[in-house]
Amino acid sequence: MELTPTAEDAAFRIAARDWLLANRPSDPAPRDGQASRDYATRWLATCHAAGWSGLAWPTDYGGQGLSAARLMLWYEEYVRARAPSTLDCTFVALNHAGPTIIARGTEAQKAFHLPRILEGRSIWCQGFSEPGAGSDLAALRTTGRVEGDELVVNGQKIWSSYADIADYQELLIRTEPGASRHKGLSWVICDMTLPGITVRPIANMAGVTHFAEVFYDDVRIPLENVVGELHDGWSVAMTTLAFERRTAALALQLELSVKVEDLIAMADAAPGSATAERLADLRAEAAGLRAMTWRTALREPATPFDGSLMRLTFAELAQSIHRAAMDVLGPAGLVDSHWSYDYLESYSETIAGGAAEIQRNIIAERILGLPREPRP
Ligand SMILES: Cc1cc2nc3c(=O)[nH]c(=O)nc-3n(C[C@H](O)[C@H](O)[C@H](O)COP(=O)(O)OP(=O)(O)OC[C@H]3O[C@@H](n4cnc5c(N)ncnc54)[C@H](O)[C@@H]3O)c2cc1C
Repeated sequence: MELTPTAEDAAFRIAARDWLLANRPSDPAPRDGQASRDYATRWLATCHAAGWSGLAWPTDYGGQGLSAARLMLWYEEYVRARAPSTLDCTFVALNHAGPTIIARGTEAQKAFHLPRILEGRSIWCQGFSEPGAGSDLAALRTTGRVEGDELVVNGQKIWSSYADIADYQELLIRTEPGASRHKGLSWVICDMTLPGITVRPIANMAGVTHFAEVFYDDVRIPLENVVGELHDGWSVAMTTLAFERRTAALALQLELSVKVEDLIAMADAAPGSATAERLADLRAEAAGLRAMTWRTALREPATPFDGSLMRLTFAELAQSIHRAAMDVLGPAGLVDSHWSYDYLESYSETIAGGAAEIQRNIIAERILGLPREPRP
């Protein structure tokens, strides 16, 4: 793997840095609701107008067609400039719904949805999890009955991030009655304004309502909204999860190095103290994650399941850094809205995108070749 930057790479990095420093918003991002949508779509539209959105998307679909290395340079500058977190309401559309449509959608789906996503005109959410079907996604029970050229959808999803402000949902449903677990599912584009949809926001322990339950009561979705083949939704969902685990969080992973440096600057720890040692360990771990992120982003062809290694390493390090931040700040941490909020949010890292235990199972079984655990 060649990591030596060329003169063109260096020029790209400087152009990205200059643009980000001149254009990133100076006001903090609202955390939920319509204000968070307005802020995120304004920022995405600004990036798009200047040619800084869809950097790794193919040029045929409105992207910039940049190499993985250039994308990583952009993200490095992005987190250093403290540009708005990429984990906002545009995250699903840009990082896994759009890429899934590029990989598995029809030309009509691509022509309609991809420009809207890149320009910040449509927001997406994900409707995979259900009560009783999270880690065991194949246990999902929301149904779509084929009636003429429509699917009639009934059931419930949960933990659908930004469902309250989304225009579309990547919806995984059971469309073939009687088919076993992974069979007979379909991945469908669901217009969130359709009659029969009820969205009920859920507040998390940080006091923010960025996810929701979604109920479907005879919701009629055109069959032309199925992505991939009807009843072949499991393989499309695996495409989505591969994007979600392998490439969606690259910026968030690099951002941990910036957070550790911020923490070190704040801590003013005496050399040789236990705090200094703890921070040094975190700096080393963040550097390790950064190297792992570069390797995973650049490795072609992708190694199967390296997304699980990244997701697990990132999630556990994020929690360690935020725990250290609260210890370093002491009581002041309780009133520091930035660090205390991120600390509370970090608890969800070992659940979102597949719980840590599930990632460990995948690493054990698929990478290390250990015996499979009994399946239901
Ligand atoms: C911040 C956040 C955002 C999310 N956003 C979305 C979203 O937008 N759309 C969406 O569809 N979902 C979303 N989710 C849901 C997420 O995908 C699920 O929470 C996750 O897959 C775990 O499922 P569960 O909550 O049902 O827990 P469960 O599957 O019930 O697991 C409970 C516990 O049991 C453990 N466990 C379960 N099975 C095993 C096993 N076989 N071996 C060992 N341990 C096991 C788990 O690791 C976990 O600790 C989000 C979650 C979070 C926290």
